[in-house]
Amino acid sequence: MDNKKTEQKIPLIRPFMPSMEEYMEEISSLWTTRSLTNMGQKHRQLEEALKEYLGAANLQLFANGHGALECVLSAFQLKGEVITTPFTFASTIHAIVRCGLTPVFCDIRPDDFTLDAEKVERYITKKTAAILPVHVYGMACDVAAMEKIQKTYGLKVIYDAAHAFGVKVRGRGIASYGDASMFSFHATKLYHTVEGGAAAFQDETLAKPLTALKDFGLTGPETVDLTGCNSKLDEFRSAMGICNLRHIEEILKERQTAGMVYDKRLSGHPRIQILPQQQDVTRNYAYYPIVLKESAISRDQLQQKLMEHGVLTRKYFYPLCCDFPCYQAEYGQSDVPIARAVSDHVLCLPLFFGITEGEIHRVCDLIETWV
Ligand SMILES: *Cc1c(COP(=O)(O)O)cnc(C)c1O
Repeated sequence: MDNKKTEQKIPLIRPFMPSMEEYMEEISSLWTTRSLTNMGQKHRQLEEALKEYLGAANLQLFANGHGALECVLSAFQLKGEVITTPFTFASTIHAIVRCGLTPVFCDIRPDDFTLDAEKVERYITKKTAAILPVHVYGMACDVAAMEKIQKTYGLKVIYDAAHAFGVKVRGRGIASYGDASMFSFHATKLYHTVEGGAAAFQDETLAKPLTALKDFGLTGPETVDLTGCNSKLDEFRSAMGICNLRHIEEILKERQTAGMVYDKRLSGHPRIQILPQQQDVTRNYAYYPIVLKESAISRDQLQQKLMEHGVLTRKYFYPLCCDFPCYQAEYGQSDVPIARAVSDHVLCLPLFFGITEGEIHRVCDLIETWV
């Protein structure tokens, strides 16, 4: 095609940013206070605001979502196995393994791609310490079923809620479900602090070990009680978080509007599966994945063709975590046929604050010429 070169590129993701003036204003006091990190004033302000916004009983900020997840697993002092999904970002599984725990891979549901609670029960043994479901793409896990498992078997339920910022289930913030939830505020996420993350948790006695764990295990100037790491969110990033939180309603609204344009174009397509509208769930349109059914073109070919036309996409999540070279020998045989099928046919389409309706129609027009 000759007009290829004149086509505007459409990125997969483009981070939201407050105006430079707004950010400058927010950080200007740091030149006076010289308090740049270690849980300063901006940090405390953002922590309080996010706790409220996410509906968390308790909440702590971290330098990134991964650090939050490792510290939560560590604070619970778990031993043994953690039942989880292979259909997630590497971070989820790395956190389990790096905390000395053993992942057990369970399959996902075919409609919303979250951990299948019915199948989870098959893997529960004396060794099971926790369940770690992922609200993948902002789809809410079956929180009621997970809660039942938690109560019946006395297990911890820890959610990877990296994608679920702003999601509500039955009017309640997603952070209020389970024993704990991890959020990621990485620049590619819908709400961000450049890098950053948070742990929401029910049991307030976790506050002390979590505070220590993200700060080298220090519990006093001369006391090191725990084998901690360094995962503190600094004041500049906290300031970015404060600014971005002022715009969160606008950010969510734009994504919902854009997501609904995709929905309208792609729903009912005989060879494309899109995410469902879950009952009693406020959706955040964190990602827009499509799963190709039997079709004239493969997922990889479609990705290639879109790229040739300037449209960037990603295979979130391919390969499955159990197939990573670092895990394959031990976990490659996991019985996860649905996760495998989805992973082989999924493609995430461009969706970000500022994407235009015209751009979405262009993406859909291109898809429809080949699928
Ligand atoms: C982004 C992400 C993480 C890691 O978060 P960081 O803030 O980048 O450390 C973990 N799990 C999932 C599902 C993610 O998408």
